[in-house]
This record gives sequence, structure tokens and C-alpha cells, in this order.
Amino acid sequence: MKRYSALSILREALRGHTGWERAWASPEPSSKYDVVIVGAGGHGLAAAYYLGTNFGITNVAVLEKGWLGGGNTGRNTTIIRSNYLQDASAAIYEKSRSLYETLSQELNFNVMFSPRGVMMLAQTHHEVRGYQRTAQANALQGVETEFIGPERVKRLCPIISISGPRYPVLGALWQPRGGTARHDAVAWGYARACSGMGMHVIENCEVNGIRTEGGKVLGVTTTRGNIDCTKLGIVVAGHSGHLAAMAGFRLPIESVALQALVSEPVKPCLDVVVMANTVHGYISQSDKGELVIGGGADGFNNFTQRGSFHHVEETVRALVETFPIISRLKMLRQWGGIVDMTGDRSPIISKTPVEGCFINCGWGTGGFKAIPGSGWAMAELMAKGESPLANEFGLRRFREGRFVDESVAAGVAH
Ligand SMILES: Cc1cc2nc3c(=O)[nH]c(=O)nc-3n(C[C@H](O)[C@H](O)[C@H](O)COP(=O)(O)OP(=O)(O)OC[C@H]3O[C@@H](n4cnc5c(N)ncnc54)[C@H](O)[C@@H]3O)c2cc1C
Repeated sequence: MKRYSALSILREALRGHTGWERAWASPEPSSKYDVVIVGAGGHGLAAAYYLGTNFGITNVAVLEKGWLGGGNTGRNTTIIRSNYLQDASAAIYEKSRSLYETLSQELNFNVMFSPRGVMMLAQTHHEVRGYQRTAQANALQGVETEFIGPERVKRLCPIISISGPRYPVLGALWQPRGGTARHDAVAWGYARACSGMGMHVIENCEVNGIRTEGGKVLGVTTTRGNIDCTKLGIVVAGHSGHLAAMAGFRLPIESVALQALVSEPVKPCLDVVVMANTVHGYISQSDKGELVIGGGADGFNNFTQRGSFHHVEETVRALVETFPIISRLKMLRQWGGIVDMTGDRSPIISKTPVEGCFINCGWGTGGFKAIPGSGWAMAELMAKGESPLANEFGLRRFREGRFVDESVAAGVAH
């Protein structure tokens, strides 16, 4: 794999851009791999990447039923933060956020990480108390956040109205090194790096069965034939329940659509990310100038990846009091992704009842920020049988009642 550099851009400019290689190869599936990962979203690709870089395991295939990053990884609003309440969550989300800081250099692919700062608005007294508590917890966890007052909110984000009649802004939990990254680029960067290590990233290859014998995994059946493996990782977000059923176990997961929308592009007016959890909306501005807006999850289980008009109306109506300027913007596009929700709003990174079969899911509405950290932990779990970052996120917790409750930090209406 040729490295991208200023010199390579110059060289290609001079020769009419005829020498660029494909970013990742498109190999035919082999009949056997040491590790098969199902799902080429960010989490599956990151797990494969860290298997290679941290453990030297490169006889790996990542199987994707559609196109790379076409699931939630390419559909989210790209907010990255680590201001969670519980120690186990802060550890994995902060590991992830810190990996994002240098991910472009590490992957030699510009993922456009932009640590522009994330604020979660407190618009009720209950939220003020909740976020002050989180700020104190974060201080003990080594996560840099602070609770700021309404005047500072206004200075950081001039387009906010802090004196709304129903929901005045009373303060915010501010994480200065939170921000955004380009979602497709994260998937593409990891895929290119995996391919560069000789791994097979195989698109248009749907897994439709999991073969086991005597409680051990043997391999998968796919639309492109049978593939054997010694270890199997299921990393398919909203489809986790289906894949678990193929392997013969059930998951405490619900799949629902989460929707987002963007406005027409406007001149730069918002250089931080703002989440308004009481009114159920979050907002940032893309490099193209569009306001990227997310709302709550659908209130019923479904597998659609579409947006719906009533959702646009509800989300925008909720945000207008705090962001009056959006009342004059046209909304351009909307879409949905199938998110995988657990009862405690924390992920599952775990061994399963099938020996050799591991699962990584339950990131719900907030897993983009977790991609590098989750991949790191999943790789360690698959290579060594345990990972300190994943210890609290095993399937056992649901049987034993050791929930990692993040229903507040997980944010908006989720
Ligand atoms: C609208 C929206 C906004 C969001 N906003 C944020 C945000 O701001 N910040 C944040 O941190 N998170 C956010 N999220 C959540 C985040 O997008 C997800 O948690 C994360 O992308 C999950 O990544 P993944 O790799 O696990 O899943 P995915 O990216 O969905 O990848 C799973 C892949 O598995 C494939 N697959 C499924 N079944 C099979 C099969 N049988 N065989 C082969 N392949 C299969 C799918 O095609 C898919 O590509 C948002 C999500 C949505 C939908």
C-alpha cells in the first residue's frame, strides 16, 4: 500500500492522477480464515485493524452484506465525546476519544477529526444537578469536562437563545476536546489499513448462517459460499439479534430507527457541537455549511433506514426555541439508521454461549465516538480472551443485574 503524503499528491498532480491505487482490495473470499468478522461498519473494521496492529493476527476477513460503512457508521451525526458517568464507560469512551486525536496519522488517512468542543445544555434544574455530578465524576476519571454557566454558553455559541420562555439555558456540561470526525472516512481509513495488512474486506457478502458443532463455532454460510474460521466476531449493530439467532442465542437488544437531517448550507455560524437533551435535539455545522441535526429514536421497534416527515417537524419544532435561526432554514435531506439498544444504554463486548464466537453491539445511538476504543477492546478480547476495557460490558451483567446505567449520558431521548 502506497502511503499518502504531500509528495504523493504533488507527483500525482503532475501525472494527471493516473497512479493512485484503489484504497482497498476486493478479493474473492477464501475458504478459511483465523478470524472472520461479520459487519464492515466502523466497529468491525476497527476490531480487525487492532487484531493486526496489536496482536499480529492478519489472516482475517471482514464480511459486509452491503457496502463498506453503509450501516450506521455512514449515517450518524458524528459527535465524539467521552463525558459519561460510570467509570467503565468513561474509560472506554475516553480511550476512544484519545485514539481519535491521532487516528489520521495512525491510519495515514484524513478522518477529519475536529475537536471543536461539545456542550450538553442544562435546561432544567434536574439537568443542572445531573451534569454537575457528571463533571465531578469526569474529574475523578481523568476526563476533561467542566460545568459552565449560561453566559459562557452564549459566548461559545452566539446563535443560542439562552432566555427561552419554556427552556432557558441554565448552563452546560462542556467537553473542550470533544468534537466530530468524517464518518465515511473512519470506515474507509480502517478498511484501507486492514487491506494493507493483507486482510480481506469483502463487500456484498451476506452472512446467512452460523455453523457450530458441539457448542463451538466452525464458520459461516454466506451468499458467496461457506467460510470456516477459528474465531468469529459478530459486529452488526441493528442486525445483532438476527445474527445471534443464527448462532442459537438471544440478546437483550431492541432495534429501532434513529433519524437525522441536514439543512441547506449556510455560512459558518456554529463552531461547537450542541446537544439539547431536554428538548431532544442536537446540532453541529458540517464543513459544507449544512446544519447537521439529530433527534430522538423512533418509539417503536423497526428495521427501516428511512426518515419520516413528522420526525423532521418534531425535531425542528423542539430546537427552534433554543436556536431561533433554524426557523428560517430549509431542510435538505433526512435519513435513518437501525440502532441496537440495550436496557442500560451501554454496549455489549462479550464472549457468547458459543465457544469462539464473540459479539460487539448495543452501542445504540452513540457508537460512532466509540469506534477506535471498541475495536481496541474487541481485538484484545478475541486475541487474549479478556480485555480490561470490556470487562464490565459482558453479557453476564444482564443475568447478574450489574447494569452500567448510562441512560442519562447516552443523551437525547434514547
Ligand atoms: C441517525 C444516527 C445518528 C447517530 N449519531 C451519532 C453520533 O452523533 N455520535 C455517535 O457516537 N454515534 C451516533 N450514532 C450511532 C452510531 O452511528 C453507531 O453506534 C455506530 O455507527 C455503530 O457502528 P457499527 O460498526 O457497530 O454498525 P454499522 O455501521 O451499522 O455496521 C454494521 C454492518 O453490518 C452489516 N451487516 C448486517 N447484517 C449483516 C450480515 N448478515 N452479513 C454481513 N454484514 C451484515 C451492515 O450492513 C453494516 O454495514 C448515530 C446513529 C444514527 C443512526
